[in-house]
Amino acid sequence: MTSTATASLATDLGAYRTSLRAYLNNGDALDRWRGKHHGSTEDRIAEHAALMAHLYQDGWNRYGWPAEAGGHGGDERHRGVLYDELSAAGLPVPDPQLMLETLGPAVVRFAPDLAARYLPEYLRGANWWGQGFSEPEAGSDLAGLRCRARREGEHYVLSGQKLWTSHGATASRFVCLVRTGTPESRHRGLSMIMVDAAAPGVSVRPIALASGYRELAEVFFDDVVVPADRLVGEEGQGWAVAMYLLQWERAMYAWQSAAVALRRFRELLGQVAGKPLPDGAATRIGECYGDIVALRARSVRTVRRLAAGETVGPEASVDKVLLATAETSLHDLARDLLGTDFVLGAGADTGDWRADWWFSRSATILGGSAEVQRTILADHVLGLPKEPRA
Ligand SMILES: Cc1cc2nc3c(=O)[nH]c(=O)nc-3n(C[C@H](O)[C@H](O)[C@H](O)COP(=O)(O)OP(=O)(O)OC[C@H]3O[C@@H](n4cnc5c(N)ncnc54)[C@H](O)[C@@H]3O)c2cc1C
Repeated sequence: MTSTATASLATDLGAYRTSLRAYLNNGDALDRWRGKHHGSTEDRIAEHAALMAHLYQDGWNRYGWPAEAGGHGGDERHRGVLYDELSAAGLPVPDPQLMLETLGPAVVRFAPDLAARYLPEYLRGANWWGQGFSEPEAGSDLAGLRCRARREGEHYVLSGQKLWTSHGATASRFVCLVRTGTPESRHRGLSMIMVDAAAPGVSVRPIALASGYRELAEVFFDDVVVPADRLVGEEGQGWAVAMYLLQWERAMYAWQSAAVALRRFRELLGQVAGKPLPDGAATRIGECYGDIVALRARSVRTVRRLAAGETVGPEASVDKVLLATAETSLHDLARDLLGTDFVLGAGADTGDWRADWWFSRSATILGGSAEVQRTILADHVLGLPKEPRA
């Protein structure tokens, strides 16, 4: 593609969508990634990274990211269109793109040098990052985290533990929220820093989910030396960077998940077509479709607001709540329509639905639990009176 054509797709979203759709549906070059089942998380991520390399080589996943970070320009709407069109073409939204949406915008905004150094290789699937926020004693109460980084000259020395790190077993880097202030400094004493998984003193222990897939990991830091230029934002600015980041974590992940949910919904209907269905199936199907469409209707507005540079802030919790509803609804529908096959079916299709059903149980936990999201909405969006403390 000429640089003029690239520049015009970065400014003309409709033309980008049309050209991307033609590319994704033209010939069999992408068939390797269509409707594929993977026996392990590691296989799936490797295959998805290969898809990113393919898209990068032809330029398509570079839209929506700045040129300084390896992108072709454009904004969040381009990325939203990419996820939508991949799903519509029966292709996966590559797993590493999920964490890219969570971590990438904050790195671009608060550490442009790191974005220039590392984002291009992320976009071409050569490596990806994990999010090191949660700890054994700090999930909902993130400001209580203990993983510590002490400054020594031009370096920080990290010690502590992170927990529930998505893609942690295969990530090349971790974007970690760490304590640089005093133990009791809460959110005021936090900083964000990027750590190489291969650095001496980092050890990673994968966590297998109920499905058997090793989606998460525990990460331990034992006096890990990290150059000070790996800070994302200033020392002590970690909480502000994390709040900025959470807007994308909640909003873009919701959009990506909605795109995938719509594809999976269609696939489910194809799978059960012509088979006897339980009583009330038509109503359940309609309700589930409604849940997915409600999520998309909300999410498209949020993505546009992010693209316009607006602060979405706590309102992104609406998207997160709708996402959990849609995910749960879709996978419960699959369980009920597939019936005995869901429990006992030996085929890859039913195996995937089983594994995805287990994962869908975490939709009300990951990225902030449903209870906490509702409290954020009550306190910061609706301005309701605070609950009396016990
Ligand atoms: C699949 C999955 C992927 C994840 N990926 C990542 C990742 O990549 N990086 C990362 O850093 N973390 C990740 N997490 C961790 C996730 O962010 C935390 O699990 C989540 O924030 C909840 O924290 P917790 O598990 O410590 O539960 P807790 O905070 O201990 O909460 C336990 C229960 O108490 C409730 N609760 C807690 N506080 C309140 C309150 N104030 N009001 C009302 N109810 C409350 C919660 O709603 C929940 O039901 C992931 C989690 C899952 C399940």
